[in-house]
Amino acid sequence: MKRRSFVKSALLGLPAVPVANRLLGAEAGTDLLITGGRVIDPASGIDAMVDVAVRDGIITSVGRDLFPNALQIVDVGGRLVVPGLIDVHVHARDAELPPAANFSDGVTTLVDAGSRGAGNIDSIIRIGEAAPNRLRILLNIGMYGNNPGGRSEFLDGIATGDVGMARAAIHEHRDWIVGVKARLSRGVSAERDLQVLKRAILASEPFGIPVMIHIGDTSTPLPQLLSQLRPGDIVTHMYAPTPNGILDDNGRLLPEVRAARRRGIRFDFGNGLNEHWDWTVAEAAMAQDFPPDTISSDLNVPGRNAQVFNLPNVLSKFMVLGMSPGEVIACATQNAAATFSEFSDLGTLKPGAIADIAILDLAEGEFDFVDNYGGHRTGSRKLSPSRVYFGGVAAL
Ligand SMILES: [Zn+2]
Repeated sequence: MKRRSFVKSALLGLPAVPVANRLLGAEAGTDLLITGGRVIDPASGIDAMVDVAVRDGIITSVGRDLFPNALQIVDVGGRLVVPGLIDVHVHARDAELPPAANFSDGVTTLVDAGSRGAGNIDSIIRIGEAAPNRLRILLNIGMYGNNPGGRSEFLDGIATGDVGMARAAIHEHRDWIVGVKARLSRGVSAERDLQVLKRAILASEPFGIPVMIHIGDTSTPLPQLLSQLRPGDIVTHMYAPTPNGILDDNGRLLPEVRAARRRGIRFDFGNGLNEHWDWTVAEAAMAQDFPPDTISSDLNVPGRNAQVFNLPNVLSKFMVLGMSPGEVIACATQNAAATFSEFSDLGTLKPGAIADIAILDLAEGEFDFVDNYGGHRTGSRKLSPSRVYFGGVAAL
């Protein structure tokens, strides 16, 4: 009697076919078995052709030839099976790009990085409530966040970056807010980047949550900004080439930047669209052993159709820069989970973890990748999303 039923159709987005032996599966205690894939789980050191078993939304085991009687068996045909991706820098504020779009990219957890502030936080919480995946929020220290509909973030009122209001918003919405965002570029904070950063740190302090700073073209040199940060705080747009980035005029990594990493400051990529990175800075940093802790998309509506596209595409750029599939997956799973204490049971396929699982294609060929300045590189491998599970349940 054939007890194994492969559900290849699921990979095409079709509904999973119920298998005949449901009762046998229930006895075996496995709801879902993902088989036929290359499992990469950096947190547990696994990179092997093994199965993943799920019961009640939790990973129960990872290994060879598990439970042929599972209720549903999905053969992923050699694709990568990785923990649900965690994107620590996204903008989920627009109806045209709901969290559901990130979800279909394999992103089971996304962090909206400063789209909204204390004055309009409710709108992003509503988006999070409707999301099919897990949305968390970095509160912008600017009262109305970025892209707030005609208001500038700080130039028309650093006074609106009010510490008391930010603290009240965090207190009220602590289950949603996991950190504070401070955009320090001159176009946002003018010459007052240090003042903005100090306010963000003050707002975060009572809650023990990190601050994420957005660098590139700041008025203050980066070492001075870094000196304000505490272990666990995050620098995004780490490869910004504009004045006051991580390199000196000769392309050498600033010693203060390496020292900051040593004392626990985290460095995030943040692809985005405008003046956030170019290949030459990333290549110089990688050559000096300064890879990202986390690789994030900074995805917004225009990024959906240019440069960024989706998080697996952004991860692929770091394979061009010399990282292995396992290393790039670590940046969007294990390392991203370690960025926020709220994510401690995410970013891994270890037994007992929430069954957030992404199935990715790893194609070989010739692929074009672009930076924020029109610079191109050709890569030989490209990751793209295929299928995703949130708490063991497949995305529609
Ligand atoms: Zn951003």
